[in-house]
Order: sequence, then C-alpha cells, then structure tokens
Amino acid sequence: TDPGVIRNFCIIAHIDHGKSTLADRMLQLTGAVQAREMKAQYLDRMDIERERGITIKSQAVRMPWEHEGSTYAFHMIDTPGHVDFSYEVSRSLAACEGALLLVDAAQGIEAQTLANLYLAMEHELTIIPVLNKIDLPAAMPDKYAEELAHLIGGDPQDVLRVSGKTGEGVEELLDRIVEEIPAPEGDADAPARAMIFDSVYDTYRGVVTFVRVVDGSLGHRERIKMMSTGATHELLEIGVSSPEPEPTKGLGVGEVGYLITGVKDVRQSKVGDTVTSQRKPAEEIIGGYDEPRPMVFSGLFPIDGSDFPVLREALEKLQLNDAALSFEPETSAALGFGFRVGFLGLLHLEITRQRLESEYNLDLISTAPNVIYHVTAEDGSTHVVTNPSEFPDGKTAEIREPVVDATVIVPSEFIGAVMELCQARRGSMEGMDYLSEDRVELRYRLPLAEIVFDFFDQLKSRTRGYASLNWQSEGDQASDLVKVEILLQGDKVDAFSAITHRDHAYAYGVKMASRLKDLIPRQQFEVPIQAAIGSRIIARENIRAIRKDVLSKCYGGDISRKRKLLEKQKEGKKRMKMVGTVEVPQEAFISALSSN
Ligand code: GDP
Ligand code: MG
Repeated sequence: TDPGVIRNFCIIAHIDHGKSTLADRMLQLTGAVQAREMKAQYLDRMDIERERGITIKSQAVRMPWEHEGSTYAFHMIDTPGHVDFSYEVSRSLAACEGALLLVDAAQGIEAQTLANLYLAMEHELTIIPVLNKIDLPAAMPDKYAEELAHLIGGDPQDVLRVSGKTGEGVEELLDRIVEEIPAPEGDADAPARAMIFDSVYDTYRGVVTFVRVVDGSLGHRERIKMMSTGATHELLEIGVSSPEPEPTKGLGVGEVGYLITGVKDVRQSKVGDTVTSQRKPAEEIIGGYDEPRPMVFSGLFPIDGSDFPVLREALEKLQLNDAALSFEPETSAALGFGFRVGFLGLLHLEITRQRLESEYNLDLISTAPNVIYHVTAEDGSTHVVTNPSEFPDGKTAEIREPVVDATVIVPSEFIGAVMELCQARRGSMEGMDYLSEDRVELRYRLPLAEIVFDFFDQLKSRTRGYASLNWQSEGDQASDLVKVEILLQGDKVDAFSAITHRDHAYAYGVKMASRLKDLIPRQQFEVPIQAAIGSRIIARENIRAIRKDVLSKCYGGDISRKRKLLEKQKEGKKRMKMVGTVEVPQEAFISALSSN
C-alpha cells in the first residue's frame, strides 16, 4: 500500500466515554464489518474485557474509506485506557500519527483523558477533538467544546460533535481523519524496522504480534529478528486485521498488521521491541525499549493447599499472554505454599486474581499488596524488598519508596475534600489549574503505597463519584518507614506483617490486633495478640481462655444430634491452621486480609 493513503490513529478517551461504541460505528460505516456480523463492542474480544467493559489489550483494525475519489487505508489502534498499562499505551500511541480525543459531552474531560492526551502530545500526534454522546439530553456540547478548545488550543467551532450510538457525525469524522492526520513517512529502501505495540497469546495460533512498520518491509516466510534479544524466528504468517485476520504477502512502510512466528510465549515478542529482517538487519531500535516493571506485589495462596500445582500451572499459562506478570514461590508459616506475584498495579492484580479464580477454578487468599522498597541497613548492606518478610532486621540507615505524580480532576466544590485526603496520604501539592469555571485539575506527589490501597474509593466517596484520577511513576524518595509485625502468643504471623509509615504504624497495629481478636475463637489457654515494631510492642489484645465443650449444649440424650455436632467440630478443625500453639481458622486469615 502507498503510504500516502494510510492513516494511523488511536482513540483517547476516559473509561465509558464511548470509545468502543464509536469504534463499532466506524467498523460498520466503512464496511469493515457487515451489519449482520456486528455485535456490540466488537473489538473487546477477551471475555474479561466484555465482563468489565474495559479494554485491556489493544487491537489494530484496518478499514477502507473512500474520500474524494481515493481509497484510504485506516489503521485504528485501540489503546488500553488504564494507568496500570501506561507503557502499552505509550507504545500504541507511538504507532500512530494522529489521535481522536473523545470526550463525553455530558461529562467533560477526565483525568484519564488528560494523561493520555499529554502522552499523545509528547509523541507529536495530530489531535482531533471530538465530543461524543450528543444524543444525550444531558449533553452540554457548547460548554465542553470550550473546555476542549481551551485545553488543546483552537476554536470551539472546530470540535466535532458525534454520537457513537446513533452514528450522527461519524462520517464527517472519518473524512476529517483523511484531511487532518498526516500520512506515515518512512524509508522504503532501508532495512526493515517494525515496532511491536501489542502481543497476544492465542490458543490456536500461538503468539500473535501486532506491529507498525516504520522503514522497509517484512515479507511472508522471511526470517525476522527481535532487536532487544537477537532471537530469530520464521514468519509463518503476516497480515492485517480487518478486523478478522487476513494474511497478506507482506507489510510496508506505515502499515499496521500482525505477525505469527509460532512462538508460544509473549515474553519472546515483547511490546516495545523492534522487529527487523535477519537477512538485512537494521542497526537501531525504534524509540528505546523498556522492560515491564511490576509495581505492586502480593502473595497468592491457594485456600486448599493441594491446589498449589494448579496455581503454578495457571500462573504459567497467564504469563504466556502477559509479559508484565512475574511470580516466584513463597512459603508462609500461616498460609502455606503460594507465590509472590508482581503486578503493574491494582487493576492488574484484580484482573489476574479474577482470572485465576474463574478460569482455573481456584480459591485464593491474597496478602495485602505492597510496593517495592529499597532498604539500606545500618551496616551499609542494601536490600530490595518486595515482601515484608525480606525487610532486614535491626536498624536501617535509609528506606526509599516509590512515588507518583497524581492528577485529580473534580468540580471545584470538592477541592477541600481532595486536599484533605491527599494530605492524609502524605501527599504534597504540586499545582492546581482551572479547566473551566467550575472544574479543577489538582496535581499531587504521593507515595505509591498510599494510593494502591483504597485511595480511589476514598476519592470517589468524598467527591460523590465526580473525581477522576490518574498517575505516573516519578522515581522514589526516602521516607520514615517501619515494619509492623503481628504476634500470636509470641509467634510472628508473617501474613499480617506490613511496611507502613511510622505515623501510621500504631493505627495498623491496633486495627489488626482488634480485628484478630474478633476473628480467632477462644482456645484452651489465653492468647495474647501483639503488634510490634522490632522488639517494641505498640498494641496488645487478649483472647481469654475457654474450655470448649460442644456437648454441654445438648441437654439430654439426643444421640444423633450429638454425633452431628461432633462431626461438625471435626470438619471445622480441618480448616484450622496452627500458628505456634494457636489454632486459627482459615476464615480468620481471609477476613483479616480482605477487609483492608
Ligand atoms: P468505552 O469505555 O470508552 O469503550 O465506552 P463504551 O463504548 O463501552 O460506552 C460506555 C457506555 O456509554 C455504554 O453504555 C454505551 O452504550 C454508552 N454510549 C456510548 N456512546 C454513546 C452515545 O453516543 N450516546 C449514548 N447515549 N450512549 C453512548
Ligand atoms: Mg471500551
């Protein structure tokens, strides 16, 4: 295809602003998908995406469009919207020349939109502002057209108004794409270079790698080389998605399509890597390459210990399609055998857990998530801590924790509520701007550990659901952190240890001790529950002794009832875990850990 008729673009939108619906309309209007094959949210293929209505993995679709007598080839690249996947977002943007900035005409700009817009501007993409859902009675297109024009410059008159639902304005949008988004440029005679912006595992076809060709071309049956590792593979199939896979003879400058090589693991075909041809390899990788870095760690333990091998196999399977997922075996005195799993963020954790439970039928306990700490002990030794159990004993010289720059957008009446929350979470304010008269963008630097738990929930509840949040990593900072341990009758319960700021340690200790007091049944002897920093006890509760005699509840001689009770008690015992000499029901661990 002549690069002159190619247009590569993505859609930037906050969740629920209508990206998938607009994509459906475009597929229909361009004829890429016939009406009878159309199903809502055609591109959100993974079940979990449909369930949650979010796009996790990007997809690239080719669509034809006639404009003033010429046929254009559009490649629409669907980017993941969530901050956990920001590296994948940045790679998808790098594969485009333009972006549709899609904003719900009843909601206005949200934090997610803004963050991705800034990324698109960094990549120097042409931005086409579009207000969606103009069919809604609550739509305020004039107000938000101003807001958009104010944000990206230009005239409010030029902001397109469409409805992905009714199709109104969508043809005009397709024409604007031809007119405003530049055609790709590249050197057709240079050695081939194609950037991987997505890579998905397919049970039947193995890994399917999505690429954007920058220079040269790639052909069917050619041997290709991954530039970050030097590994070579034969191209078994090359083609475009329109949106169903269609094999072609090759891909040239500016084209977006897929490659199949028979590799079985997405880690051999990594997002961000550059593909070249082995025969005539390129020298320089495109735009640098970043390994995915897990930000949040949590222990995952099967509730039924015999499920451990199933959990291992399930994690290995998920990893085939998720280069960012990392794990290693972990043993906990309280929870048994499991894995320490690294995630990009909390959504990634939640999705992974949900998939393990629904697709592999596992019941899991997950320990409280924590971030990575860099600890320098007093003797000068350094420790990378992804698990409280790795925290060095004794005095520490310095502890560094990851920090993020967060952006919150709220109606101005909630400024005070947001500031209060951010301050309680050790945030420092970096700036504040009015987007319009009544909507504000607040910028804070916050420790990552303070936002990975319930920050977003808190933010939503304090702003009646109006706030939107986005953040990006900004390195790390030294902080006054301590490890709080929970002891049952003098024995440490590893699953409940946590690393917290010194100012929050007391509250954590008191909360866990009193929660466990309610959850652990009385034993034959008194059980002290203590929270400690090192050897210093900061909180204490007592479970009083009781002589448990279930039979005393049955007055008289109902033998069958007695037997039942005894059996029930035996069953209950099976689900007990011994911590030192204390019997703790499995349920206690689950509830204590789940209600953070
Ligand atoms: P995404 O999260 O950005 O992909 O958003 P979706 O396309 O999934 O849309 C979110 C919700 O908004 C769905 O309930 C859609 O039916 C609805 N929606 C999308 N576009 C429109 C529109 O133009 N008009 C109306 N009234 N609703 C829309
Ligand atoms: Mg969607």
